Amino acid sequence: MGNHATMAAMTTDNAAWVARDLAHVWHPCTQMKDHEQLPMIPIRRGEGVWLEDFEGGRYLDAVSSWWVNLFGHANARINAAVREQLERLEQVMLAGFTHEPVIRLSEALTALAPRGLTRCFYADNGSSAVEVAVKMSFHYWRNVGRPAKTRFITLSNSYHGETLGALAVGNVQLYKSIYQPLLMDVITVPSPDCFEREPGESWAGHCRRKFAHMEAALREHAHEAAAVIVEPLVQCAGSMRMYDPVYLELLREACDRHDVHLIADEIAVGFGRTGTMFACEQAHIRPDFMCLSKGLTSGYLPLSTVLTTEPVYEAFYDEYVKLNAFLHSHSFTGNPLACTAALATLDIFRTDDVLARNRALSAHLGRRSRELESHPHVAEVRQHGMIAAVEVVRDKVARQPYPWQERRGLKIYRHALGRGVLLRPIGDVVYFMPPYVITPEQIDLMIEVAREGIELATCD
Ligand code: PMP
Repeated sequence: MGNHATMAAMTTDNAAWVARDLAHVWHPCTQMKDHEQLPMIPIRRGEGVWLEDFEGGRYLDAVSSWWVNLFGHANARINAAVREQLERLEQVMLAGFTHEPVIRLSEALTALAPRGLTRCFYADNGSSAVEVAVKMSFHYWRNVGRPAKTRFITLSNSYHGETLGALAVGNVQLYKSIYQPLLMDVITVPSPDCFEREPGESWAGHCRRKFAHMEAALREHAHEAAAVIVEPLVQCAGSMRMYDPVYLELLREACDRHDVHLIADEIAVGFGRTGTMFACEQAHIRPDFMCLSKGLTSGYLPLSTVLTTEPVYEAFYDEYVKLNAFLHSHSFTGNPLACTAALATLDIFRTDDVLARNRALSAHLGRRSRELESHPHVAEVRQHGMIAAVEVVRDKVARQPYPWQERRGLKIYRHALGRGVLLRPIGDVVYFMPPYVITPEQIDLMIEVAREGIELATCD
């Protein structure tokens, strides 16, 4: 102990912290050997859109720390709310017990969500919320006497998390293929991804055409399908590929017609990211299950929830001995500190007219990022609200990507870090998903640094 305290006192610069980190910390989504070359950035503090390292270096968090942060780091209002809750109750199990923050949060979320989502089941991260929705849908059909409905329909290029159930219903092969022997078998339908639209075709036209695959899958598999799971409007981890709301409208109608649940994974797109509070609103639909996490607590604390309907809830409501209950649990289900951060988040939405302010910001983001479209190695710039993405390719006309092994996106990442901006391209797709407290001038900086990075990474 004494030794550690002395070491902490002595560790004042980046290199010393990095050495200690690399001795013991195994990082997520990382080939650790990369860090023989790639600098690790130890962060001492955050403020607003900025992260600061141990030597005073600052980085504009253009990706909201994996899309979780909405209102900046160390936000005074959220800090105050969590601090106050900390003095009262840090944690209590949610089975047999309850607490004020989880009650108030459930009231607020059900009031805010598409009409008819009246019940909240909590977990503590996005993947776990997906597991909950998948298990609940399967279990619902069993409880109502249709046990053959056990399969899930998913879109190509989708992403729903890393735990085995969530990985199974996702489709990004980089994360999935190695684990295939461990995963349940799903029905995969081509994504409506509008990057693949024909020249001159509208987003809506492309999505209507692509929907034929989903209609066919539903027709063939409805008898054995529990649910369709989608990321509404943006396949974020799937290189920020986007589609039109009309696809969700068609999907809702078809799921109803075929008696199959619709699971909307709004973990990344919820809480204003695409311009509306929830992306589903743009299609005027209500899913049967809506998964929320990330921005739910403004990225402060791990929390997730699955909202569902009264009919689903009622299918589980029975005498204990019938064993129809949903017995899923996590130790930290509905943690009071996390629920308090979520309540403070919703409070900011209510008092600060965030969605209206974001409309101006996203117009600026769109205007500035579309300037990159003229670059000879940019095939497309696309946007939904506060997400904009730049598709960097080898051949602009043929839309041919660079060989992935060349890791051009990594060059952009490194350049941006040197310029004080945290961009984290997905492959060769540079995207901007900043906290909502970003200013137009900071957007300009972010775009300028991306432009330089793209120039640098494509010059040979
Ligand atoms: N679903 C979507 C759409 C996501 O973007 C993510 C995380 N990137 C997840 C699920 C998984 O969430 P978590 O990382 O908290 O497990």
